[in-house]
Amino acid sequence: MSAAIYAKRRGKNVVLIEKLALGGQVNTIPKIENFPSISTTDGISLVQKFSKQVEGLSIEIVYDTIQKVDYVSQVKTLFGQKDKYKANSVIIATGLSYIELGKNENDYVGKGLSYCAVCDANFFKGEKVCVASKNGSGLKEAVVLSEVCEKVTVLDSGDMSIYAQVNKNPKIEVLSNVEIEKLIGKDLLTGVEIVQNGEKQIISCKGLFVALGKKPDQTVFGGVKVDQNGFIITDENMRTSMKGVFAVGDVRSKVLKQVVTACSDGAIAGQLA
Ligand SMILES: Cc1cc2nc3c(=O)[nH]c(=O)nc-3n(C[C@H](O)[C@H](O)[C@H](O)COP(=O)(O)OP(=O)(O)OC[C@H]3O[C@@H](n4cnc5c(N)ncnc54)[C@H](O)[C@@H]3O)c2cc1C
Repeated sequence: MSAAIYAKRRGKNVVLIEKLALGGQVNTIPKIENFPSISTTDGISLVQKFSKQVEGLSIEIVYDTIQKVDYVSQVKTLFGQKDKYKANSVIIATGLSYIELGKNENDYVGKGLSYCAVCDANFFKGEKVCVASKNGSGLKEAVVLSEVCEKVTVLDSGDMSIYAQVNKNPKIEVLSNVEIEKLIGKDLLTGVEIVQNGEKQIISCKGLFVALGKKPDQTVFGGVKVDQNGFIITDENMRTSMKGVFAVGDVRSKVLKQVVTACSDGAIAGQLA
């Protein structure tokens, strides 16, 4: 949104393409205390302020998922699920994506499967839920969920026996060495089939929160240079290795991944693009 604001105010024809919800990860932050000029806020309120500014500038917003790109020609093409888009400059601002389980989770998106406890815990008030976790990656999510859910079972692929011993939260159960085999339920999710120490079992639950961490999704990178961790390398003006292609925010190889630095990156790219 920051990149779009700067480019639009330079008189450019800007299309902001978003696959899910404007504001990205910021929507999931319960409390922000380090965004200059606003001493304390929640993520959704901050996103609303950004969105209002974008709307005020009549920036075109398109809801589509970019699945393929061609950055080789001077006029770049983005291939979305719904349409294709052509532009002289592209600013990649795709942030971080949740690491998926790699099982049949797509069948249950919005039907019991979630990647964000802060966003969706309230849909599971009083219910039993599971958290898919790797070496403790789901413990924070479990604590958030325990505030509203009846029971939270953490299904961790690593050895969590020490944590299980010190856990004092009666609503949270932590299982170690668990492989999630598949998600179960005719329409809505009703359980998860797991294998623990060679034994198959089904854990009944209304919700499964996948908390395996985040990574940059390379679908829209189109051959730009990346670092050893898969983040896009840019110069200080947000230029990538391909002419006319910029990268900003968390998707970029940099030290401090925060809202204010994403905004700063966006401002530079929006101006130069
Ligand atoms: C729990 C949590 C707490 C945090 N707390 C703070 C904090 O207190 N202060 C702070 O400054 N920062 C905080 N951060 C970090 C901050 O949220 C990020 O640095 C910031 O959101 C990065 O913005 P971004 O635009 O680069 O990426 P993102 O926020 O990840 O946004 C990327 C957007 O691109 C969209 N997208 C991705 N792929 C495609 C595609 N193929 N097609 C179309 N659209 C696509 C996504 O849907 C998303 O909306 C926190 C993050 C988390 C997760």
